[in-house]
Amino acid sequence: MKIIDMHCDTLERLWSLEREGKAVSLESNSLQVDFRRMKSAGYVLQNFAIWVDCGKYKQPMEAYREMGAVFRRHMSACSRLAAPVRSSREMDAVWKAGRIAGMLTVEDGGILEGQLERLYELWEDGVRMMTLTWNYNNELGTAAAKAAEGDAGLTELGKQCVCQMEELSILVDVSHLSDQGIRDVLDVSKKPFVASHSNARALCPMARNLPDELLRKMGERGCVVGLNFFVPFLLPAPPWLRKNHASMEKYCTKEQILHAAAEHAKHLLDVCGSEGVGLGSDLDGITKNPALPGCEALPLLYDVLRRHKIAPSQIDRIFSGNVKRLYEQMLP
Ligand SMILES: [Zn+2]
Repeated sequence: MKIIDMHCDTLERLWSLEREGKAVSLESNSLQVDFRRMKSAGYVLQNFAIWVDCGKYKQPMEAYREMGAVFRRHMSACSRLAAPVRSSREMDAVWKAGRIAGMLTVEDGGILEGQLERLYELWEDGVRMMTLTWNYNNELGTAAAKAAEGDAGLTELGKQCVCQMEELSILVDVSHLSDQGIRDVLDVSKKPFVASHSNARALCPMARNLPDELLRKMGERGCVVGLNFFVPFLLPAPPWLRKNHASMEKYCTKEQILHAAAEHAKHLLDVCGSEGVGLGSDLDGITKNPALPGCEALPLLYDVLRRHKIAPSQIDRIFSGNVKRLYEQMLP
């Protein structure tokens, strides 16, 4: 079994813990992701997001640069197990050496503060994927989390950003973007893109999950959608819990959670197609999922998908094949 995961927030956790003066390692730790557990589970590539909370940090590029430094320092400390990659040639070399590839991504295009020339700095740093928004509206467009207040989709600058990202071969990531924003990306983009960590709204009605209309169009365009492990994005909250859905994991069993994950995988396959589904665990960015608590649990997910009658060749495509194909096609 080979695993490629399009999204985790481990870098932000490492950065925060180090700012509190705590020593922490990416080789082995008590977070949801570390290289030793990844190695035994079968990971071949992990995307590491630089997630900057632009509402909290008024100098988002400073936080971005600090987290980039955290990535480089920890990757070289783990060079026995892993190496950073910026191209499909580097990906091959790292795999031939039996190591896990680490790819840098950005969560929240708000860090650009509207200055698209900053994309060149991201490119130079090895960033190969970026979400246009996080949970705030920004210079590029409307966030899914704010769409209920009005969904203006992408701004003109957001549309330019998509084109410039495509020219640079930085994959456009529409997770966290509003529905109209995704329609606009479908209009202006010429290449496949991703929703790195989003589930199906038809099964769990959250703004962060994607409606069938968009999943279908994305599938037709060769896009890949990554299955997210956050319990409130897997199971619909009962009405009495709607205001506090983030604690949803306390009110369901592990079996219910695993069943829901398999149902989302099956639905995404039905609507996006067999080539359109991947993994985007969101580990270290989410409240611990009791059934899928960390990277060590991926073999368990594999078994659950088998029990739900998904063919092994199809599970392999979800676990690594589809994202591998997209990266080989899109990266330099
Ligand atoms: Zn996210």
